[in-house]
Amino acid sequence: MVQENLSKILYERFAKTIKEASNEEIYLALLELTKESIKEKGNTKGKKKLYYISAEFLIGKLLSNNLINLGLYDKVKNILLENGKYLAEIEEIELEPSLGNGGLGRLAACFLDSIATLGLSGDGIGLNYHFGLFKQVFEDNKQKAVKNPWITSESWLNKTDIKFEVLFGGFKVSSTLYDIDVTGYKESCNKLHLFDIDTIDESLVKEGINFNKEEIKKNLTLFLYPDDSDKAGNLLRIYQQYFMVSNAAQLILLEFEENEYDIHKLYEHVVIQINDTHPSMIIPELIRLLGEKGIGMDEAIDIVTKTCAYTNHTILAEALEKWPMEYLDRVVPQLMPIIRELDNRVKAKYFDEKVQIIDKDCRVHMAHMDIHYGFSVNGVAALHTEILKREELKSFYDIYPEKFNNKTNGITFRRWLIHCNNELSNYISELIGNEFKTDATKLEDLLKYIDNDEVLRSLEEIKKHNKIALKKYLKETQDIEIDENSIFDIQIKRLHEYKRQQMNVLYIIHKYLDIKKGNIPKSPITMIFGAKAAPAYVIAQDIIHTILCLQEIINKDPEVNKYLKVVMVENYNVTNASKLIPACDVSEQISLASKEASGTGNMKFMLNGAVTLGTEDGANVEIHELVGDDNIYIFGESSEEVIEHYKKFDYISKKYYEKPEIKELVDFIVSDEMLAIGDKENLSRLQKELINKDWFMTLLDLEDYIKTKEKVFKDYEDRKSWNKKALANISKAGFFSSDRTIEEYNKDIWKLN
Ligand SMILES: *Cc1c(COP(=O)(O)O)cnc(C)c1O
Repeated sequence: MVQENLSKILYERFAKTIKEASNEEIYLALLELTKESIKEKGNTKGKKKLYYISAEFLIGKLLSNNLINLGLYDKVKNILLENGKYLAEIEEIELEPSLGNGGLGRLAACFLDSIATLGLSGDGIGLNYHFGLFKQVFEDNKQKAVKNPWITSESWLNKTDIKFEVLFGGFKVSSTLYDIDVTGYKESCNKLHLFDIDTIDESLVKEGINFNKEEIKKNLTLFLYPDDSDKAGNLLRIYQQYFMVSNAAQLILLEFEENEYDIHKLYEHVVIQINDTHPSMIIPELIRLLGEKGIGMDEAIDIVTKTCAYTNHTILAEALEKWPMEYLDRVVPQLMPIIRELDNRVKAKYFDEKVQIIDKDCRVHMAHMDIHYGFSVNGVAALHTEILKREELKSFYDIYPEKFNNKTNGITFRRWLIHCNNELSNYISELIGNEFKTDATKLEDLLKYIDNDEVLRSLEEIKKHNKIALKKYLKETQDIEIDENSIFDIQIKRLHEYKRQQMNVLYIIHKYLDIKKGNIPKSPITMIFGAKAAPAYVIAQDIIHTILCLQEIINKDPEVNKYLKVVMVENYNVTNASKLIPACDVSEQISLASKEASGTGNMKFMLNGAVTLGTEDGANVEIHELVGDDNIYIFGESSEEVIEHYKKFDYISKKYYEKPEIKELVDFIVSDEMLAIGDKENLSRLQKELINKDWFMTLLDLEDYIKTKEKVFKDYEDRKSWNKKALANISKAGFFSSDRTIEEYNKDIWKLN
């Protein structure tokens, strides 16, 4: 059937056979074929529906994942192979949708996959950013941000005839809805709804990612997270957020009314998950719309509170949005009476200033609104939720203990195992059957092979194949040479000081100097980074510059480059994550304890047989509990100790810097070698930051980090024992399936049927 359909499409569109068609033509034919078979599956229905609203959906390329979910992957792969074509090459034609920034957006994408797989009725709602986040290119050892156009004339986007009007202070815009089908693994389909504005003008962007931030009718959906270092940027973000939630609220009510349910019982048929604070204005917006339908304020508030649930993703204070009232007055004047009323009700009941929505500086705390006027507040890993309850949101926990719950993040194994590491996935099937694909805990059956030499050797072999595939990919895409016989040590994630890429940098300097002194590592080491930095985040740019300069110095040094290599992968995204993760030996998860809410990269690496080198932070804590001390490398101060340092202001980086071993490493950043190729402004700013501030306590954990990492590399030499660690990690990864996470959301929060 697949063969006939594919041939038919190719013949009708291009008058070619599979053999004759180009990869582009086959891609377009497969797009059509996949969309057709999605239609046959139909949409998931239920008496209650979830709307997952998120500013980001980092969905990645969809062709292979849709084929896997539809059960067509192997068939298509083989048909193409019989005709001399490679699915892997055809995948390259598809552009990755640029609709997310990092973990939060990737989580939303994994959740959509699991919601559909479990047959739950739930759609995503977000925005259709034309140029996405931005595309990272390296020039003169620096990050340059350029636009990332990803929408092609034929794509997964389906234009609908649903249009709404959105009213801002002083003007109106009209929206159009585009849908992307979300396939589940062997179940019916859901949708990702992406709203766009009809009057968008892509030509507004001339050089880099700069554009006139004030022309809202032309720029509203150009970029995800436009620069907000000035007032116009802040206003634009509020315009975007309101555009997202106003459309969402109208769509939700439209679908609700089509079902002719009783509006007074909205919460029996609708649940809204607010992913981080960006969609928070859905609360006052829904109250406003219910008011227009004649529902009084008390009841409207009650209905909305029973409908909305909030997920907190961070305890970094600067990331909890607080908008000046003046900005909201300007952009969304119609919401302000409602927000004031919500705040008045809080102030009438609670004297604690920490729980007010509008603070004394007239800033509106979005998270506070979510907590008071939603029925659930969840953190994203056990440690994170405990810190919310005990520290960051303690005042709220004291008022509403029943609202707080934990939902440890997860990842979809369809993408992060079956697709990205098909060889490993097939091997696992040979060993323990296919059940793990729908019940991930079945991976534990692999433990019976923990002493089986043949299995352990096969795992090593598969890892080697993935390393060779990565080598080929990096050669083709970035003209970088790496050695597949080296240890692949990988840190890929957004660039942020709390994630401490700079600590890894100091390790590399240590290793470089050590090799220079004649201490040659047994196996060569390849240190791989991938990270985008927010364009306005100065120190993050400095860290990227430092990594790129080190890459140049080390890779050009004939005394060192046989043993140590540094690679920074350009434009880190889902596509290259899928190539990097299966090839990894050592997974770097080295955030300052208490700062990483969960992490999901850590889970992807574990599932693919990498061993974690990490702090007791986020979901690393749960990984540690699952695999035990022998199968993970933990270092650094605990979250309790770190929180104490912040309370007492007693961490003084200079004291650590004064230790000669540390000083040598930090000062290398501004050494003659570095200054010869690097930019003094960037390099000395980073060095000074580490000495004088170091807000995320790099130097605190540095010595323990170096010591532990040396142990990791030493232990790697005992190949059998290392392979056992890899197997143990894969076996215990089942808990981190997003199917498990979604089952928990459904049982405790959504209660869909
Ligand atoms: C998984 C993933 C992330 C999140 O990584 P963390 O290490 O958890 O921060 C970010 N970006 C991409 C492309 C991902 O696939």
